[in-house]
Amino acid sequence: MHILILGAAAGGGFPQWNANNANCQRARDGDPKAPAQTQSSIAVSVDGAMWCLCNASPDLRQQIEANRQLQPRPDGPLRASPIGAVVLTNGDIDHIAGLLNLRESQAFSLFATARVHGILRANSVFNALNPEFVARREIDLSTPFKPLPGIQITAFSVPGKVALYLEDPSQKDLGTSDGDTVGLEIMNIATGRKFFYIPGCAEMTPSLAARLRDAPLVLFDGTLYTDDEMIRAGEGVKTGQRMGHMSISGPAGSIRSFERLGVKRRLFIHLNNTNPALNLDSPERAAIAASGWEVAMDGMEIRL
Ligand SMILES: [Zn+2]
Repeated sequence: MHILILGAAAGGGFPQWNANNANCQRARDGDPKAPAQTQSSIAVSVDGAMWCLCNASPDLRQQIEANRQLQPRPDGPLRASPIGAVVLTNGDIDHIAGLLNLRESQAFSLFATARVHGILRANSVFNALNPEFVARREIDLSTPFKPLPGIQITAFSVPGKVALYLEDPSQKDLGTSDGDTVGLEIMNIATGRKFFYIPGCAEMTPSLAARLRDAPLVLFDGTLYTDDEMIRAGEGVKTGQRMGHMSISGPAGSIRSFERLGVKRRLFIHLNNTNPALNLDSPERAAIAASGWEVAMDGMEIRL
């Protein structure tokens, strides 16, 4: 299975348009130790010819241009794309806005939970995806589906939060319903090899731990290094927990939570622009490496 990291940054990307922190300034200056990253998405293929996108980021056009695998083949028909399917993990802007790049009456299948399809239906701009060409398919949690021949995906609920723009301020409890945020188990049917893509997760629950145990590969929520990072940076008032993201470090953080799960290869993805781990020379990046984790970067290709 080919796994292509299209975007390793969280919503807003790195650098983010209005973020002026030291991290973003280094990226804007072209500092090779702070390489820019686009917004979080991966592409998966078993044959290298047809690809399934997991989330469609606002940077999708740029990501297609940066990855030849996702471009029409020179010897193909006048209108063509190797992108045969898109699977959404939630309704966040950084995961759905890229769908608008996929208009122009090109056929593909769009998989999402009923909750997320409801969000798309309620936003008429997504009617730009011509229903004659784009099949909207509903995912049943825990029921495997085949987005493309040879690939089987199982979506499962993870602790998260509804998209920011859907929050109801009158409701104190921001807890979510099943299907607001999902993780994906992605399997190559021919080999039985599978990995997990979980770009947003608020906490490690016993059921999630059981699911991930001994997995060969997990791409996991690396939004924040510390839970109060945005507050300390003076760039926000919300903790990671409040935003639906568990932090990398700390007693309830992901490094600690994965310690005894036996996951063979672990990568952080979906890094916020405040995360010091975006800097290749930061002590936090070194600490991540020392704990046996990697940090995903745009353009990385993983074979499984
Ligand atoms: Zn996101």
